[in-house]
Amino acid sequence: MLDPALQKTLDVVLARNPGEPEFHQAVREVFDSLAVVQQRHPEYNDQGILTRLCEPERQIIFRVPWVDDKGTVQVNRGFRVEYNSALGPYKGGLRFHRSVNLGIVKFLGFEQIFKNSLTGLPIGGGKGGSDFDPHGKSDGEVMRFCQSFMSELHRHIGEYTDVPAGDIGVGAREVGYLFGQYKRLTNRYEGGVLTGKGLDWGGSLVRKEATGYGATIFAEEMLKVRGSSFDGRRVGVSGSGNVAIYAIDKVQQLGGVVVTASDSSGYIVDEDGVDLELLKQIKEVERGRIADYVDRRGGRSRFVADGSIWEVPVDVALPCATQNELHQKDAKRLVENGVIAVSEGANMPSTPEAVEVFQDARVAFGPGKAANAGGVATSALEMQQNASRDSWTFEYTEGRLTDIMRSIHQNTLETAEEFGKPGDYVVGANVAGFRKVADAMLAFGVI
Ligand code: NDP
Repeated sequence: MLDPALQKTLDVVLARNPGEPEFHQAVREVFDSLAVVQQRHPEYNDQGILTRLCEPERQIIFRVPWVDDKGTVQVNRGFRVEYNSALGPYKGGLRFHRSVNLGIVKFLGFEQIFKNSLTGLPIGGGKGGSDFDPHGKSDGEVMRFCQSFMSELHRHIGEYTDVPAGDIGVGAREVGYLFGQYKRLTNRYEGGVLTGKGLDWGGSLVRKEATGYGATIFAEEMLKVRGSSFDGRRVGVSGSGNVAIYAIDKVQQLGGVVVTASDSSGYIVDEDGVDLELLKQIKEVERGRIADYVDRRGGRSRFVADGSIWEVPVDVALPCATQNELHQKDAKRLVENGVIAVSEGANMPSTPEAVEVFQDARVAFGPGKAANAGGVATSALEMQQNASRDSWTFEYTEGRLTDIMRSIHQNTLETAEEFGKPGDYVVGANVAGFRKVADAMLAFGVI
């Protein structure tokens, strides 16, 4: 039960944003955590902080026309939600996936505000994307789409205004086409306008690895609190994109054995541990399907087209595919099978009911806005390197990432303790992320 003032604010937000279930879910989860803050800080409510925080500062929706390889005109819809700039320029990725709509972009942008605040770096929150589906498109089609998308987006972004990056369906290839078109339209080599760039043209070492590495480091910290580690543990990872691949990499470095990976066609189980080089070859280089892994690997690997990846018994689970991919029944199965920690590489992959199961069973649960913050944190490090016209070594950058993840873990844990919810990383992340943004908003007056 929320307190009446919070409930009233939440009702207004839900009524003003109909038909956006993922956005409602993200807002409700934050409100659930904020009851403890509201009692101690009535000034936040008096100044309408939550009402203002839930309303994006700016929402841009635009037409993206492009011509496919057959000469047919295609039209997609582009989005950029510039959510909150209290702590710095809007910062958050672009998602190209057929499921993208305004509600999805708002949920991701809303989460991004708190996540970016948790990094301790000067970045606000934003998100964008399109319902364009890159699967099965030629390089030429992807390039023409990206150029058309940037032809509109470039008016709204800039290194001091709004700095997009990648997300689902947007990797190094897409960021290259987007940056090329921005440079051409503005006649400026403004490296800090996009992150996730190639290493030869302003990118940062470790950015590619950062989200997966970070989610694993966060899990390692949660395990340490329990006197445990990854060494010899069976680990389940979902997805096989950027976040999943580098989560697998880091788990293996820490001595864990990853036994699963997936894509939207199904999942694989490899009892001998996932062969990362083979997975990278298939998913990063060939852009193939996950079933190809089993065809080429053989041995004790198998492909499962139907069913849930979370039926596979593991000690640690790292959901790294997409939102709402881990349901209540999956959480129950994981708990029955003895899972001890769950760290979210993806954004909001566990449903609220699944989170409740984990928390009731005292499983260490790291929510995405804390656990996957390493990606955006390293994007901010990329911006620092661009601003100083410098590039750092892999070791130095990875050291910075590790420090940031440890400090997010510590801050989250201490904040949960301070507000009477020891061990609750959800409350810790929401409250710690919120406080900093709220205090900055108070300082600025009603804007
Ligand atoms: P990628 O596009 O590189 O990979 C996404 C992976 O998830 C693919 O294996 C994809 O399979 C799978 N997937 C996507 N949608 C679905 C679906 N509906 N059902 C089943 N599988 C699906 O994206 P990222 O790895 O970059 O992103 C993964 C998650 O991490 C997202 O939630 C993203 O928001 C989050 N994230 C990413 C960050 C980053 O730095 N990239 C930073 C922080 C969070 P298929 O190829 O079949 O579509």
